[in-house]
Amino acid sequence: KNPPISNFIRAIVADDVESGRTQQVATRFPPEPNGYLHIGHAKSICLNFEVADEFKGRTNLRFDDTNPVKEDTEYVESIQEDVRWLGFEWEELRFASDYFEEFYERALLLIRKGLAYVDDSTPEEMRELRGTLTQPGRNSPYRDRSVEENLDLFGRMRAGEFPNGARVLRAKIDMGSPNITMRDPVLYRISHAHHHRTGDAWCIYPMYDFAHPLSDAIEGITHSICTLEFEDHRPLYDWAIEQCEMDSRPRQYEFGRLNLTNTVMSKRKLKQLVDEGVVDGWDDPRMPTISALRRKGFTPESIRTFCREIGVARAYSIVDEQMLEHFIREDLKLKAPRTMAVVRPLKVVITNYPEGQVEWLEAENNNENEEMGTRQIPFSRELYIEQDDFMENPPAKYFRLFPGNEVRLKHAYFIKCEEIVKDEAGEVVELRCTYDPETKSGTGFTGRKVKGTLHWVEASHAVSAEFRHFEPLITNEAEESDKTFLECINPDSLQVLEGFVEPGMKGAAAGDKFQFFRHGYYSVDPKLTAPERPVFNRVVSLKSSFHP
Ligand code: ATP
Ligand code: MG
Ligand code: MG
Repeated sequence: KNPPISNFIRAIVADDVESGRTQQVATRFPPEPNGYLHIGHAKSICLNFEVADEFKGRTNLRFDDTNPVKEDTEYVESIQEDVRWLGFEWEELRFASDYFEEFYERALLLIRKGLAYVDDSTPEEMRELRGTLTQPGRNSPYRDRSVEENLDLFGRMRAGEFPNGARVLRAKIDMGSPNITMRDPVLYRISHAHHHRTGDAWCIYPMYDFAHPLSDAIEGITHSICTLEFEDHRPLYDWAIEQCEMDSRPRQYEFGRLNLTNTVMSKRKLKQLVDEGVVDGWDDPRMPTISALRRKGFTPESIRTFCREIGVARAYSIVDEQMLEHFIREDLKLKAPRTMAVVRPLKVVITNYPEGQVEWLEAENNNENEEMGTRQIPFSRELYIEQDDFMENPPAKYFRLFPGNEVRLKHAYFIKCEEIVKDEAGEVVELRCTYDPETKSGTGFTGRKVKGTLHWVEASHAVSAEFRHFEPLITNEAEESDKTFLECINPDSLQVLEGFVEPGMKGAAAGDKFQFFRHGYYSVDPKLTAPERPVFNRVVSLKSSFHP
């Protein structure tokens, strides 16, 4: 479907395949089910699935469910839905918790080999002994426990004899290592917590650094792709696989995670926005989650193209969010019908148009894609135009409607503003205009020219609709000041407008996408739309200053 991607990870895999080091490529996408997937995860999903795909390999979806307190089946389900929606199908669905018994056996092996011990130190004591970047760590007083004592204590940890935090199992590696990760890392902790899959079977849970390499090895993963923060963990990854005597030898490769301007991407923070009611759920269109992007109107193609085009590198970088918007515009440009919507209506009466008459005009559906055909739109004596398209006292070079000025109505006629009607407060509530039948669109009228073209909707057939416009949730301040990100919420991130669309859009279905002339691309909201009353999310405005 897509041309092969080109990046350093793909190059490593290609090289391994060519040299015969790798027989069949196997990758995995390993989310922790503690939140919904976001656009950063999409980068990792695309990379894992597309690289394996190119070499006819396989990709597992594996839930890294080793931290029961934060995990939930709601997340397990949403993650599967999102990966599928992005267009990928996994070879096998796995859970790290499927391997708890095997992890435990491997931990016993380490103990028997004298490579793991039970430590009774408090978290504070452990932190104190761990040392710093410039200072080596020191051995724990429990480090030299006998194998028998360690086996006994670890068995009793599993049996539930000790409270949370009382003891941990640690790898015995090197407290003097310059790499802090290698200073006797914790392998197991006690947590009397209910697990969404294993229930109360376990009260000790493996740490990520232990569970992850073993899971990869159990599944025969060849290339374990993760983000740069795990670079320091790679020696531990290799140590665990070797010392646990795993049959297969996956290798870890790191790439730089995706960061987007104006975008909070940590699941912890996103969950806070949901829990505090700042947004109305994980799929609130202002969120950077896959489910929110879907609801807002992004297509899987646009997200996949974005992920390919931003590239994969071993460096920290921030991508301009406008780049994501660029790819949805590109995707919808030729696909979305171009129709008219008035988001802030102002009534126009055409005084010389016969009362009660309606005529149907032909309008092309997409002037850049003839295949999309045409539609009929009504025109009559009463219409709505955009409030912004009229000014009583315009500045120079204002080409839209003002008293005495003539403009073109898209797909229809020239109209001229003759009179303004105001309410008691002095607000303009109606314009009285005349039209010129000679100027009908499509008849080749060349008698005179006008500079402005306005969009409009005929009043008696108009479908009332809601439009939702979005701005970044977090203001820029968040990065610069000492304010917490919750104190930097943009109060104007959601704007709800009431207006009208063409009658043909009455039956628009959830997810249907349109370009509204001069406003941008919109998608029908799947949750808020009621029969006869569509709610449109603005996916993106029409113009951007961004060029990739
Ligand atoms: P967060 O910090 O947002 O909670 P995480 O890394 O803890 O993310 P996981 O569920 O563990 O979330 O992530 C699953 C996979 O997605 C991991 O391999 C991780 O490296 C990758 N991933 C997460 N965030 C990004 C990102 N911003 N860019 C690229 N890959 C990412
Ligand atoms: Mg993680
Ligand atoms: Mg995390």
